[in-house]
Amino acid sequence: ADYVYGPGRTHLFVPGPVNIPDPVIRAMNRQNEDYRSPAVPALTKILLEDVKKIFKTTSGTPFIIPTTGTGAWESALTNTLSPGDRIVSFLIGQFSLLWIDQQQRLGFNVDVVESDWGRGADLDVLEAKLRQDTAHTIKAIAIVHNETATGVTNNLATVRKLLDAYRHPALVLVDGVSSICALDFRMDEWGVDVALTGSQKALSMPTGLGIVCASPKALEASKTAKSVRVFFDWKDYLKFYKMGTYWPYTPSIQLLYGLRAALDLLEEEGLDNVIKRHTRLGTATRLAVEAWGLKNCTQKEEWFSNTVTAVVVPSYIDSGEIVKHAWKRYNLSLGLGLNKIAGKVFRIGHLGNLNEPAVSHYAIRCLEVMLKEERQAFAAFRSGFKVLDSRSQKPSERPAC
Ligand code: PLP
Repeated sequence: ADYVYGPGRTHLFVPGPVNIPDPVIRAMNRQNEDYRSPAVPALTKILLEDVKKIFKTTSGTPFIIPTTGTGAWESALTNTLSPGDRIVSFLIGQFSLLWIDQQQRLGFNVDVVESDWGRGADLDVLEAKLRQDTAHTIKAIAIVHNETATGVTNNLATVRKLLDAYRHPALVLVDGVSSICALDFRMDEWGVDVALTGSQKALSMPTGLGIVCASPKALEASKTAKSVRVFFDWKDYLKFYKMGTYWPYTPSIQLLYGLRAALDLLEEEGLDNVIKRHTRLGTATRLAVEAWGLKNCTQKEEWFSNTVTAVVVPSYIDSGEIVKHAWKRYNLSLGLGLNKIAGKVFRIGHLGNLNEPAVSHYAIRCLEVMLKEERQAFAAFRSGFKVLDSRSQKPSERPAC
């Protein structure tokens, strides 16, 4: 078969889901519990307090929802806005595209501000819109902090500065799915009204929790927002928070214990150290790409992402083939190029439970070998020779990485 699990450990360098640390796996290996017993509310109460730290908020109200990032998007939008509300949203890659699609399907009136894929949100356009909008028809700015498809990090501090400069009351809704717990993110300082993430990214847990945090202003907006919502209604959560039982429906006990262990690990390392570690991993990856003579999809340094690097391949290479080959030959999972950059880039995820040797000895080293093979094959092809590259050999005959 084309796809079978080969020997050796699986190395996840996709930008989510990421490697789960052993203490988190062990913490989740447990029986179900009665969530109405005193133990689960007690656990939840502390989780809700501690999870605020990953958003850098003291005034926010968190919701730990059994869902994914996509559900967390929906929670942010439907709790704060009414159908027909005007949103300014930035299209810079596949995930912002999907969020915009959700915004439109939920009936919001979206001003789509598009940039070339590889560039950040066009904040000059935002400024022009805010300047013109003296009647405050813009109800929200929706922005992906880190666009996982292109490896672009947007500048949220500037978004806040612009809103303040024009004294504009629009809510700021931030997708922090591939940033929170890895990149510098400051909910209170940047006046973010709803921030959200998913458990399978930098929290290094299984998929299954969407963590959403609402500012006091967002909670206030939720009292009058008319979007239809049931599963994601914050009101239901708040009712159970007040009662001290915390859950409007059945939580995943295992994921709650996993979250406890993940937060403990973050606390032990220190969130600021975690962010510094991601800076080192991002820098090392970018240096490798430069040394390979390849281009980073991210067009300017100000947008470089420390959680994912999208690498533009030479035109004679199909990046999808690199990803396939990495998986098949090295048990190495890399991210594909998505949508209009399919075949043109592959992505190296360097977020979550990773250290320097993991990135340099596995992802970077294997890529070096593969890129060398591609270059040799191309050179041979150009000179009319057919070379036997490692892809046409049986696994047992292939050299080790
Ligand atoms: N937002 C960003 C930035 C993402 O990278 C992703 C997934 O990769 C999502 C949202 C969607 O999250 P999920 O697949 O958990 O629904």
